[in-house]
This record gives sequence, structure tokens and C-alpha cells, in this order.
Amino acid sequence: MNNSDVAGRASAVDPREARIVVVGASHAAVALADRLRAGGHRGTLTLIGSERHLPYQRPPLSKAFLKGDADVHALALRDIEFFRSHGIALQTGERVVDVRRGKDGSGVLHTLRRHGSADEMSSDSYAFDRLVLATGARPRRLLIPGAGHRNVLALRDLDDAARLRDRIHRGPVVVIGGGFIGLEAAATIKALGGEAVVVEAGPQLMGRAVGADTAAWCAAAHRAMGIGIELLSRPEAIVTDGDQIIGVRLDDGRRIAAATVLIGIGVLPRDELARALGLECADAGGVVVDEHCLASDGVTVAIGDCTIQPRPGVGDGSLIRLESVDNSDEQAARATCTLLGTEPTARSVPWFWSDQGTYKLQMAGLVGDHDDVVLRTDPIRPDRRVFIYLRAGTMTAVECVNSPADFLVLRKALSRQAAIPREVLEDNSSPLKKLLATAQV
Ligand SMILES: Cc1cc2nc3c(=O)[nH]c(=O)nc-3n(C[C@H](O)[C@H](O)[C@H](O)COP(=O)(O)OP(=O)(O)OC[C@H]3O[C@@H](n4cnc5c(N)ncnc54)[C@H](O)[C@@H]3O)c2cc1C
Repeated sequence: MNNSDVAGRASAVDPREARIVVVGASHAAVALADRLRAGGHRGTLTLIGSERHLPYQRPPLSKAFLKGDADVHALALRDIEFFRSHGIALQTGERVVDVRRGKDGSGVLHTLRRHGSADEMSSDSYAFDRLVLATGARPRRLLIPGAGHRNVLALRDLDDAARLRDRIHRGPVVVIGGGFIGLEAAATIKALGGEAVVVEAGPQLMGRAVGADTAAWCAAAHRAMGIGIELLSRPEAIVTDGDQIIGVRLDDGRRIAAATVLIGIGVLPRDELARALGLECADAGGVVVDEHCLASDGVTVAIGDCTIQPRPGVGDGSLIRLESVDNSDEQAARATCTLLGTEPTARSVPWFWSDQGTYKLQMAGLVGDHDDVVLRTDPIRPDRRVFIYLRAGTMTAVECVNSPADFLVLRKALSRQAAIPREVLEDNSSPLKKLLATAQV
């Protein structure tokens, strides 16, 4: 089935005139709205987001915003004029609570909006020809004694980041979970003169996302910054004295001093509307979509952190959740083609970045079933590292620390599936760009 069949089957309406309603108004939703208009969509286009803010970028929440280097205005994904001039109806502070739709994908949804106090609520309804779910994810909660304390925080939205920023100088922060967000926050806290300890249950940092070599190198870098890293450690309880947090008790009996606890143990896709609609969702969460971003009913579109999708470039039917700005953009591009009935764009290699203090980590491809790793170092800049993962001699993923130029070249080579001799990759006598040009790959 091609995209024009899907768009045609979805409803009798010309796809360019279809009324499209998007649930969620963040990275994926805004990227989609932008692309739909650029692609010639003329129908009504409504973005409904439960947060009260103008859609904003989340990555700076653990970096520049937490540090105080960027304010709310600097975070805006687009200014209000963008939505106005593109005829995009942006409904903020409004939560979609119920959706009804027919076989062709058209239907109506209902929202609730809070005005000040809890008893001042209003409801609204929106009719659509095509529905898009871009509901993102919520932080996973930690179920241990004391986890409900007001100073046990998460870091997903602007309000969370503002709360954490306010606590940095009120005593040590224990970060539970050694993933990207926890490590970024810990590095920012340290850079601001605060104290941070990261408690990670697994044997390495960023266990789901980077290889063991990069993780080990990052752990050493964080320790050198003065951040405590406790691997293979599980928190058992948040210890309080009166109404204050004083520590976190670990499973080996130790107690780590804390005034604030930041939980960074991953997110759960917000798939409750999809489940209520009877759409297939993974047991561990996530709206199952195909490579066209179509959910199991063949007409509802879902994009961004709320989805679980075919593993790019594998084709073995396995599914993966990708939580990144790149993935939101990528899926928004393909969903635009699906909604407009145009030829799908090619899937590019997934990539991700993470700024942890003075370290910029950039990754492309998916680490996993490699059988070889090449390490490139820079004799002049010991803070630079490039890890290249190979399977049967072919590059499958790269991880670069403080090496943006190498990253660009390698990402391009990965997307071309270029075969690069191992000797070229590990030769650190000249820049990769030059070596690859000479090797003509
Ligand atoms: C602190 C932090 C740092 C990050 N750093 C990086 C980084 O360095 N690099 C990178 O690539 N990615 C990073 N990310 C991840 C990136 O921000 C996400 O992948 C991206 O935000 C996903 O966009 P999304 O639109 O799918 O979902 P979200 O951004 O989660 O937005 C979903 C929106 O939908 C709304 N919503 C949900 N349900 C409803 C409903 N029923 N009605 C109305 N609205 C609803 C939510 O309130 C939310 O506003 C970071 C994320 C965080 C939190």
C-alpha cells in the first residue's frame, strides 16, 4: 500500500483540505505542522497541548535553561507569529480526554481546560478528518518509601526544570538514574557550584543508549568533574528528617546525603488515548506504528516519543522506541507524506546528542549487535574520543565525544552505508574528513 492509497482510504476529503487535529503541541507536533503547511496542506490544522506554555524545546531544560543561560523566550520552538501566519490553531492548556472516531479515521475529540481553581473547568470539542497523536512521554516514577516527598523531582517539562533550578544551592542533589537526563543535570548542577551524586542500578552509565567503552569513558569524565558515580547501586528509601530530605539509602546499607532527589529513570510513553481507541500498543508502552507512522487501524497517525516503531535499517520486524528531537523531526517528515498522500521520505540514520558539562556526546546509528569497535583518539586533544562500531567490517554506529567535525563525516558515511577499511578508521594521523576523501568513501 502506498501513501496515496492510505490518504485516499482515510476519507473522501482531499488530503490537502482535510481537517487535521494533533494531540500534543511539542517537538513532534510543531515539526509536523510546519511540514504540513510547507507541503501544501490548506485544511484546518489544530494543535492541542495540555501545557500552558508556547511550545518549547526540551533539551535545554537540563542544560542552558537549568544553568540560567536561556530563559523561557529563548526556548520557544516557534514564536506566536509563526502559528498565526501559518493559520495553525494552537490550543494550549487544554487536555484531550476523549476521542471518538470512525473507520475512515474521522471523528471528534473532547478537551478539558482548567481556569484557575479546580472547579472552574470548561470543555470543548473538535471535529477532524485525520487524527495525529503526538502525546510524548511522562517520567517513570520510582516506587520506594519517601518517593512522594515534595523535593523528589522529575525533569520533563519547564515547570520541573524551574523547580530543580531553585533547589541546586539548597544542598546535595542525588540523581537516581545514570541516563542522559540525569547526567546532564548532574553536570549542570556541578558547574553551578552545587553537589551531585548519580546512583545507577546497572553496571554502566547510559546503558540503553551507548556502548560500554563510551560509558566507561564518560563515567571517568564525570568523576573528574567532581560528580559521584555509584554504579550497581539501588536506592531503597528516601530518608527524611522532619519535613526535609536528608539522604538516600542504598541497597548496600550506605546513606548518601541529599537535600533534593532527582529521578531520571526513563520515561513511559503517553499512550492512554491510543489504548482507549483500541490501537495496538506495546506491553511496555508505546503506540505501535509502521514506517509511515500509521497506527494499527491504518488511519490514525502517531509520532514522537509516544510511539514504538520498526527498528530503522533492520527490517526484521523488531520494534524500537527512539526518544529524540531527530526522531520527532524524522517521523514528522514521514507522517506529512502519509497525511498528504505523497511519496515517503527516506529514513535517515537516527542520531542523538547530549551535552554533559564540557562534554558533547554525539551518536548516530544504533549500538548493539556489533562485533568490533575502533577507537580514534586525538593526540593533541585528550578530551576527544571517537568510537566506531562495526559488524562484519561494516560501520553500524558511531559515538563521538567533543568531535563534532568527525561526527558529521561519520554520520554521512553511515547514511551512505559506505564500506570503510578499518585501517582508515583507526589512522589518527590526519582528520577523518581527509582520510575518507582520500579513501574515496
Ligand atoms: C530534560 C530533557 C533533555 C533532553 N535532551 C535531549 C537532547 O539533548 N537531545 C535530543 O535529541 N533529545 C533530548 N530530549 C528528548 C526530546 O526532548 C524529546 O524526544 C522530544 O521532546 C519528544 O517530542 P514529542 O513531541 O514526541 O513529545 P513531548 O515533547 O513529550 O510533548 C508531548 C506533549 O503532549 C502533551 N500531551 C500529552 N497528552 C496530552 C493530552 N491528552 N492532551 C493534550 N496534550 C497532551 C504533553 O503535555 C506534552 O506537552 C530531552 C528531553 C528532556 C525532558
